[in-house]
Amino acid sequence: MIPDIRRWVYQPNQEAITFHMAQALTGHGCFQHYLWKRRRAGDPHCMHCGEPDDTVEHTLFNCPFWAEDRREMEQCIGRPLQPNDVPDIILGPEQELLPDDASRRRRIETMAEGLRLAFGRMVEAILGRKEDAERCYIYANEVGMTYAEITKLYNISFSQKTTFSSLLTSIYSA
Ligand SMILES: [Zn+2]
Repeated sequence: MIPDIRRWVYQPNQEAITFHMAQALTGHGCFQHYLWKRRRAGDPHCMHCGEPDDTVEHTLFNCPFWAEDRREMEQCIGRPLQPNDVPDIILGPEQELLPDDASRRRRIETMAEGLRLAFGRMVEAILGRKEDAERCYIYANEVGMTYAEITKLYNISFSQKTTFSSLLTSIYSA
């Protein structure tokens, strides 16, 4: 998703990329499209909304299942987030384009930093829960639940703000 990753990777003072952020930027992670291409999923469709191709872009920007997790980011930028916003959010403003006035420059940098942190929170929220769901789909398949049963349970766990794993555990240990 980042066209020139070097601009980012070689920036000084940039903290390490988190596990989920790396997945978001490379598309290598718990996306059905990626898993299917590597023969780790039967087909590439999204297990949350049924969209035929669950890519990283679908997950982060379009899948209606994660709408709530996108809200903060949308409020920050005043519209839905799009893939081509990401490089600027991650890289921050280009130094040459910042105003000379120190306090105006600081204000812009603070805003940019806020956006970057909000994007990080969004990625962590969506990919953390998607990963939990992925683990549980595998587990549920092993115990012989159907796709419809799994999805229903997942939606219950989502509305109860509990993790799917703990919900499954409580059902199976009852
Ligand atoms: Zn979806």
